[in-house]
Amino acid sequence: MKNVLITGAAGFLGSHLSDRFIAEGYRVIGMDNLITGSMDNIAHLMPRKEFVFHHHDVSNYVHVAGPLDYILHFASPASPIDYLKMPIQTLKVGSLGTHNLLGLAKAKGARMLIASTSEVYGDPLVHPQTEDYWGNVNPVGPRGVYDEAKRFQEAMTMAYHTYHGLETRIVRIFNTYGPRMRINDGRVLPAFISQAIRGEGLTVFGDGSQTRSFCYVDDLVEGIYRLLMSDYAQPVNIGNTDEISIIDFAKEVLELVGNPDAHLDQRPLPKDDPKVRRPDISLARKVLDWEPKISRAEGLKRTLPYFLEAVRKNAG
Ligand code: UDP
Repeated sequence: MKNVLITGAAGFLGSHLSDRFIAEGYRVIGMDNLITGSMDNIAHLMPRKEFVFHHHDVSNYVHVAGPLDYILHFASPASPIDYLKMPIQTLKVGSLGTHNLLGLAKAKGARMLIASTSEVYGDPLVHPQTEDYWGNVNPVGPRGVYDEAKRFQEAMTMAYHTYHGLETRIVRIFNTYGPRMRINDGRVLPAFISQAIRGEGLTVFGDGSQTRSFCYVDDLVEGIYRLLMSDYAQPVNIGNTDEISIIDFAKEVLELVGNPDAHLDQRPLPKDDPKVRRPDISLARKVLDWEPKISRAEGLKRTLPYFLEAVRKNAG
């Protein structure tokens, strides 16, 4: 049985990846310090003998007994309000955490995949974003703690690849959604859906003309799995190419949830908010034969029951 270490295993993406690797017949070692993750996301895995959980902060030295085939580094606060609240921890997990895990991968002879982000492109001047675009990032702005940690993470990972010959993979993840997102993590999709369910105002930042492209979690997990199993060491964008403005997305959510009390509520635009974002996925199509299969309409339909339940629990 092959062994995979997944950091951030109690988080949104980490828990879905844990499910996938268990389903593929792996033994999964999940690690999380639970500052933004939740044991609720992996409660169903805890009784399984193929799943082991370590409550640990990977910014400190990481010890894992026995052999490891793969390491997937997904630990990090990932929403703008989270990394504004936890700027130092965000910087540390992307930098020191990555260094610790690269060292572990080297010691174990494991292949390491890191979760990078469309945020490496910052407020992009190239649209859609291709992997060879270097980005437009403000290092000292509010998003700098996340963006620069992830950029350093890519640089460090590439250095271990070229200098130590470590097998590494870099996925640049664009906005992703699905069950197990925290309803109050501040990100637009959980915010709008939970506001609509409660019959509140949907907090549209600025005039809502900024765009995003939302990928359903199962599509993302498939792309990550294929990348890990490929022999491609350069960064690869994984995301959905269906771009929508935030104002149109708010209207779509109002329609989907159908609560007559819900309405639009315009708020100031946060500093350094990227104006556009859409992945160019030509590379993923070519090297991974991957593209998203689940439309936003279908993905939202699959996600809504989770949010209805989460809002109900939160109110109760
Ligand atoms: N946004 C919004 N209302 C909210 C939360 C976010 O209008 O309550 C906007 C935000 O300004 C950004 C987009 O939605 O333009 C996506 O924000 P999110 O925090 O989900 O992630 P980002 O893609 O900016 O990292």
